[in-house]
Amino acid sequence: MQLKSLQDAELKGKKILARFDFNVPLTKTEPRTITDASRIDLAIPTIRFLLEKGVSKITLISHLGRPDGTVNPKYSLEPVAKYVAQKLGIDVILSESAIDNGVKNLLQLPETKIVLLENIRFLPGEEKNDMELAEKLSQYGDIYVNDAFGAAHRKHASVYAINNFFKNRAYPGLLMKKEIDSLTSLMDKPAKPFIAVIGGAKVADKIKTIERMMVMVDTLLIGGAMAYPFLKAKGVTIGNSLCSDEDVSLAKHILSQDKGGKIQLPKDHVVAETLEGLPEVCIGQNIPSGKMALDIGPETLRSYGEHLKTAKTIFWNGPMGLFESKNFAKGTMGIAKIIAGNEKCFSVVGGGDSVAAVMASGEADKFSHVSTGGGASLEFIEKGELPGVQALKGL
Ligand code: AMP
Repeated sequence: MQLKSLQDAELKGKKILARFDFNVPLTKTEPRTITDASRIDLAIPTIRFLLEKGVSKITLISHLGRPDGTVNPKYSLEPVAKYVAQKLGIDVILSESAIDNGVKNLLQLPETKIVLLENIRFLPGEEKNDMELAEKLSQYGDIYVNDAFGAAHRKHASVYAINNFFKNRAYPGLLMKKEIDSLTSLMDKPAKPFIAVIGGAKVADKIKTIERMMVMVDTLLIGGAMAYPFLKAKGVTIGNSLCSDEDVSLAKHILSQDKGGKIQLPKDHVVAETLEGLPEVCIGQNIPSGKMALDIGPETLRSYGEHLKTAKTIFWNGPMGLFESKNFAKGTMGIAKIIAGNEKCFSVVGGGDSVAAVMASGEADKFSHVSTGGGASLEFIEKGELPGVQALKGL
């Protein structure tokens, strides 16, 4: 079934209940302030659209961090309420709890326009996909809008169960629609050559995506800590580089499936003795003992670049090294610039760290789509559907 479009919804005078992903990073010390508001900025057009269509009220739902079903002021949405109010130039009232009795009273007042419910994960029912919680939340709106792509792979009450109470009255937000449309174009008949760049550290988390990608792509470029289990599985020495035995067996399994030789591994590295150590180029694949690889080397960047320049479709997830340190960021930034430079290709980047790298490179606007959901984009590629999106089409 097709996803409905918010543009087609009858919105005038309606009360809207809208789920967003305002899970933004905050400073560790008080007063807690937002360090990167991109996720909120990307959701603002949906709120503006609703206001322009003349809705009467908007109740916003979001999670922040992992408070595990208990109230923890560290994860309060207070900084988010302030930021959204400032962005929209309208008062945003933060409720004490998502199922506070006062919320309904607040929504009765003519002067109330926007209410932000306090962190939905303060309530144990959220992650348990609790029907009672979903039913209580549903009383705040005539229409449900889900714009939380980053949470769409979760079967949680405010993402999944809630749809039971909005039959034919549930819509994807503008950001959600764009995410799904972009990832769908990537998966359905992508223009060839199709190249995937997979990096980061968690082989076990990404194994299913890699297996799915292997069927679809012409070339799979592997970098970051993801590469060392593959190199070790091939008998290359990896020194002290990040690698677990479990990941080596997963890598062996993937390599055994790669009959067409699609997988490319780093040909050289940037190494150091410690994470804080001085960077050194290590020529060739073997990493000497006592050293750990923390970035792809210049020859690898050049060779991956040659592949990427020919691509018509590119999907990128995961950094090429420990890019948070500028000593080991060249590979990741280099890949961002190369993909941005291939203007004729359809390029999608997903995953918190690779997105942060693309933002830092200043080339984000040259990507066809920068996905806000790391886990969600990987799961969509693996399964072709997400619980939160499927539920919007009807449970
Ligand atoms: P992931 O969440 O799987 O995309 O992994 C991202 C993390 O992997 C980032 O924090 C990177 O710093 C880290 N990472 C990538 N390559 C390396 C490496 N060669 N050694 C250590 N950490 C790495």
